[in-house]
Amino acid sequence: MISLYFHIPFCTRKCAYCNFYILPDKEPLKQKFLESLSLEFQLIEPQIRGQKIVSIYFGGGTPALIGPEAIATILSWIPNRLHDIEITLEANPENVTIDLMKAYAAAGINRVSIGVQTLDDTLLLKLNRTHNADKAQEAIHSTFEAGITNISADLMYDLPTQNLTIWESTLKSVKDLPLTHISLYNLTIEPNTTFFKYKKTIETQMPDGEMSLSMYQMARDHLTKAGFHQYEISAFAKENRHSNHNIGYWIGRPFLGLGPSAFSYWEGRRFRNVANLQQYSEMLFQGQLPIDFEEELSPDKKVRELLAVNLRLMHGVDLEQFQVQHGALNEEIKNTLRECCDEGYLSWSESVIKLTERGVLFYDSVASELV
Ligand code: SF4
Repeated sequence: MISLYFHIPFCTRKCAYCNFYILPDKEPLKQKFLESLSLEFQLIEPQIRGQKIVSIYFGGGTPALIGPEAIATILSWIPNRLHDIEITLEANPENVTIDLMKAYAAAGINRVSIGVQTLDDTLLLKLNRTHNADKAQEAIHSTFEAGITNISADLMYDLPTQNLTIWESTLKSVKDLPLTHISLYNLTIEPNTTFFKYKKTIETQMPDGEMSLSMYQMARDHLTKAGFHQYEISAFAKENRHSNHNIGYWIGRPFLGLGPSAFSYWEGRRFRNVANLQQYSEMLFQGQLPIDFEEELSPDKKVRELLAVNLRLMHGVDLEQFQVQHGALNEEIKNTLRECCDEGYLSWSESVIKLTERGVLFYDSVASELV
């Protein structure tokens, strides 16, 4: 079983916290991108032939800017695509209309992930987002009315000047929207972003560690009461609406990423495409895969990393199955797991190991001990 990811790098403007590879929303760039993507697909097609594809994800960037015809064309390249698999499109509120979403549904999209981030207009301005809270809510309703009923929203906390009252107001509003999934993100200030330039000031405005933890807890409480089931550290879903694609990342399902800057995990190797459309395109026109970084993890490191990400899932990891799939755990890894149990981060019952309540709150400590 495999997944496919398409990185569509176009955005109308750059958010203050964004360090993704993005390009301006210009027609000639889109044409060049699509021609190159088609060449990349032809090169990787033999690798996916005969494989069972269980999810396809259009991420970015703002994939909704590429247009339904382009999405339909890309999907038509994939002959072994079954029609009932999860096919997600990321969209930003300002681009969403009922007609556009109907066209995306007709093209094959059956899940939409909307970059809401917050329903506080002052914070949206600070983030340099192009929508306001009303537009975000309207976009969710429009998507639903267009017939795409599996809708996820991204929400951010730890934002500069955000406090518990502002955060609670967003959480209260989302529960009345026709959403099936929420992904939580806490702001981190990354290099090559506007926030990074003003890091010192921004950091003084961000919630401290204690408030950050309260925000996370508050989200868990509100979302659980609103009928969302927490199935991963940062992901919440209504019944049977978990993200099949994202689960793949957490269980080590192989995936191929296409498009500039896209990552792949394939046959135990991790690699990334070059984050530059010109170079991406040139390499493909010369018949080369546009890879600029790759690594093959040692068996020990691979098992440790996979275990750490797999533990993000609330139902934990069945170690017997894990070892059949990914190789045996050595004594050193088992000792680390026992130590995490002694420290109250993990519980171990028969062959299943999972995060405790303390482990959910301090997952980073578990991950850093394992990796
Ligand atoms: S919409 Fe997403 S990809 Fe585009 S600039 Fe904002 S955060 Fe980055």
